[in-house]
Amino acid sequence: MTQEKKSATPKKPAAPARKPRAAKPKPAAKRWDIEGIDDWGASRHELGATIPDAGNSVENVTGGWRTNVPAIDPAKCTGCMLCYFYCPDASIIVEDGIATGVDLAHCKGCGICAAECPADAITMSLEEKE
Ligand code: SF4
Ligand code: SF4
Repeated sequence: MTQEKKSATPKKPAAPARKPRAAKPKPAAKRWDIEGIDDWGASRHELGATIPDAGNSVENVTGGWRTNVPAIDPAKCTGCMLCYFYCPDASIIVEDGIATGVDLAHCKGCGICAAECPADAITMSLEEKE
C-alpha cells in the first residue's frame, strides 16, 4: 500500500476566467494645425484682453466685478496670514501683523479669504451697488 503525501496548505480556488479586454480606442485625430509654428507671432492674433506690461495689475481696477464683499474683524484675527497668501488679488491689508482690511479697488469678492480664515474673522456679504 502506498501512502499519499498530504499538502499542509489548502488549495486556492481557481481564479475566474478573465474577460477578454476590449480593444483600446485609437487616439483622436490631430485637432490643431501647428504647421509653421515657428513663424507664429502676435500679429497672427487679434488684440484681446492683453496685459502689455508685467507687474501692472495695480493699475487695473477690478473691484467693480465684485458681487460679494469681505469684511475683516481685526479683533478676531490671529495674524496667521492665510488670507494674505491665498488672496488671488493681493487685496488683504495688513498692519502690525494683523489683517485689518481689504483693498476694495482690487478685491473681486471671490471669498477665498473667508473660506480659509481659521479664526472666522472674515465674513462675506452681498455688496450693495449704487
Ligand atoms: S474676497 Fe477674494 S479677492 Fe477679495 S480679499 Fe478675499 S480672497 Fe482677496
Ligand atoms: S486668515 Fe483670518 S486669522 Fe489669518 S490673518 Fe487672515 S483674517 Fe487673520
